[in-house]
Amino acid sequence: MKQIKKVHIFLTIWIFGWSYLCIDQVSQSIDYINSHRGNVSSVVKPGYKIVEKNGNKFLIRDKNQNITVENSSDEDCLTESFLNSMHHEFNYENNLLTLTFSDKTPLDYKIHKLNVKLQPDWQLHLSNGNKLHNVRSLPIPTNQKVVEVDLQIYDSGTINDINVLLNASGKHIDQRDCVDSKLMKINAYRISNLKTLQPYNAEKLIAPIYQNHPNITELNEFQYLRDYVVHQKQRMLYKNLPAPHEASIALMKKDIKKHPKGQGWVWNDVSLDHLHYRTEKTVIGLFGHVVDSDIQLISNLIDALTIVAPNLQIKYSSDASSVNLPIYMYPCDDDIDYQLDCSDYAGVYFPNSDWIFVDASVSRLYREHVIVHELGHALGLGHNLCKDSVMSYSDLADPIPFFDDIDLMQLQVLYSDTSNIISGNNLDEEKIEYYEANIHDACSIKNNKWADLIELQLKK
Ligand SMILES: [Zn+2]
Repeated sequence: MKQIKKVHIFLTIWIFGWSYLCIDQVSQSIDYINSHRGNVSSVVKPGYKIVEKNGNKFLIRDKNQNITVENSSDEDCLTESFLNSMHHEFNYENNLLTLTFSDKTPLDYKIHKLNVKLQPDWQLHLSNGNKLHNVRSLPIPTNQKVVEVDLQIYDSGTINDINVLLNASGKHIDQRDCVDSKLMKINAYRISNLKTLQPYNAEKLIAPIYQNHPNITELNEFQYLRDYVVHQKQRMLYKNLPAPHEASIALMKKDIKKHPKGQGWVWNDVSLDHLHYRTEKTVIGLFGHVVDSDIQLISNLIDALTIVAPNLQIKYSSDASSVNLPIYMYPCDDDIDYQLDCSDYAGVYFPNSDWIFVDASVSRLYREHVIVHELGHALGLGHNLCKDSVMSYSDLADPIPFFDDIDLMQLQVLYSDTSNIISGNNLDEEKIEYYEANIHDACSIKNNKWADLIELQLKK
């Protein structure tokens, strides 16, 4: 009897033990599914069903499930018969996708809106942002029986596959999609004429001395010399900069991170041995939805950076092959959000693959703030809670579009020509400790000598 009781206790512990692990696994699986929204076809949305045609699975509205929206009645897309009437073919020679509808147009099947969507297969953390140019929704006319669409696929380095999706909906705008499914997968390596994505051509907007390879033959020699002299005079401003300040080291050692549970901020201590700064020539290129004012801003920033951080060699290039710090500017619409989860932020710097994403749909002032903020990260600046800084997470801070005093003084010491950032800049360890313990005092360091550099960044 005692033996049975022992077995019973053992089994109880065993079952409870494993059930705990199972629950843990379930939550992990849910997290996994939530974080891999790309696998839409593996999880059927409520109100939808899967139909199969020519080996492809399509997700279509299930009319038998009446949890659909109002307005469903006779305006619904006739999805199954529409799919049966459709044939698709992609030509790897000319990038054309041909959709053929046998006898009627999509409109005859009550499809009022039809889109082909491109979604590259990619691992964000490993990839460069040039894949974003292959994220696209292409509207398809619904009143034609044969439609040819130029998919205009761009070369994006490591990319292999691009999923082509078909998205259809009926007459009412608020009606849910009646088809939202993968049509085919394109292997980008097989495409014979991939397009090359080039940065915004800024040759007429950015001074030749800030261009990576200025086109000397087309340059007005006088203009070039004048720019050169102006630039040399500006560089002399370096001698008038304030002396390196202990507060900048304290600010660099104390970064701010979002709380892992999503509420508030936590301090993140950074060792001076692990400071991030750029050691090779940095060549910026702006891609996507770029406007002239973005280039003007970059030109102004380069102007100021060549003075505060002369050891940081920084240029702009309109040639993709020489860009090593690309800035991709796209509006965070549904398609891009699906890839980047960008609805939660207006910009991001990816340190491993060294590129910046900026949501091009935000207002001009905020967009410029985001460009400077993310460039600040790329140059090695962390966050702070100061009121006057482009790197601030404080609610009290304005979204300024320039490097302010404390940002500039950090860049000054970070790119100083010394192997020891403290002794090389004649800084006092005790004062650094004081500012670390009183970080708000570090925020309030101001010096009028930075005014010229701030003015340079605000040129229009
Ligand atoms: Zn940031």
